[in-house]
Amino acid sequence: MSDIKHTWTKEEILEIYNKPMMELLYEAATVHRKFHDPNQVQVSTLLSIKTGGCPEDCGYCPQAARYHTDIEGNDLMTVPHVKAQALRAKASGSSRVCMGAAWRNVKDGEEFDQVLEMVRTINKLDMEVCCTLGMITENQAQRLAEAGLYAYNHNLDTSEDYYKDVISTRAYKDRLDTIGNVRKTNVTVCSGGIIGMGEKLEDRAGMLVALASLSPQPESVPINALVPVEGTPMEEIERISIWEMLRMVATTRIVMPQTQVRLSAGRTEMSHEGQAMCFFAGANSIFAGDKLLTTPNPDVNEDMKLFKLLGLEPQKAFAKKEQPESIDEADSKFKPLGEKPRWTRPGHKIERNEEAKGKKAAAK
Ligand code: SF4
Repeated sequence: MSDIKHTWTKEEILEIYNKPMMELLYEAATVHRKFHDPNQVQVSTLLSIKTGGCPEDCGYCPQAARYHTDIEGNDLMTVPHVKAQALRAKASGSSRVCMGAAWRNVKDGEEFDQVLEMVRTINKLDMEVCCTLGMITENQAQRLAEAGLYAYNHNLDTSEDYYKDVISTRAYKDRLDTIGNVRKTNVTVCSGGIIGMGEKLEDRAGMLVALASLSPQPESVPINALVPVEGTPMEEIERISIWEMLRMVATTRIVMPQTQVRLSAGRTEMSHEGQAMCFFAGANSIFAGDKLLTTPNPDVNEDMKLFKLLGLEPQKAFAKKEQPESIDEADSKFKPLGEKPRWTRPGHKIERNEEAKGKKAAAK
């Protein structure tokens, strides 16, 4: 890790981002080949284990209870249901299952115990397990690690400056604190963001500064393109072009050379040629499955056709880090503490979020 630069400035990152496209792609592809096998792509399946009804106000998210979207909410999935889905994902070439719950933060209790059991179950299928459950304490991160969690996802979403225009129910620092809690364990960090939310290029660079300055840098950085969903505050934002996505992927690859750069939401809008260029520019991970939590995603068979066409291979599970052991609840060193941490509630108002909330009230 010693030759990895952590002290990027926004200006330096923008200089890379704005290079002539061919130079940018060549530089990114060169870094990519130095640190990774360019023909291997890690494939994850995202599973929404608890959908909708979220108390947060993320302006891009159809799962926020306050917006009028047609997302059907569900209770926490059962362990056998999750196991069946994981087996299906494994059979179709995924090496990782990422379980997402629409929670603000994890609360100790039956539901978290059920998630821990899901982690043990999937780890025993010899698949990498990732969770994205909102903010967590150090003790909760330790309990997830003991259950055999491989990665925890907690996106920074955008720059600290623009965050205040996207979310008012928590602060950037809460995100960094959760990432810090995960880093106190053996669990790897997955953290990235979304472009195309109306942010400036400086915000894209600001997010990369925040991620690249983490030490170690996140093992995985998802780059999402906003998928505007009707009923959310961002429903009318125009989708970004493939060229912006390419620039973001290539810049991420250059500033975080060892990281797995993940093509995430927005892939349905990309042509095969566009995706191939992203792989060339350093993307080496995708989400598979027809849904990304709640937004559409390319069909698995389509992905496998593309892999064949490009000579890409799905990366084997635990290729980058050894499989964690799953410790049974009875032998666990970390018992629930029933903490009630004071995660921030900044309480400022975001006009477009308020308007979207108003539309829901009017529709009742
Ligand atoms: S992104 Fe996550 S935290 Fe934000 S509203 Fe959606 S489910 Fe809730």
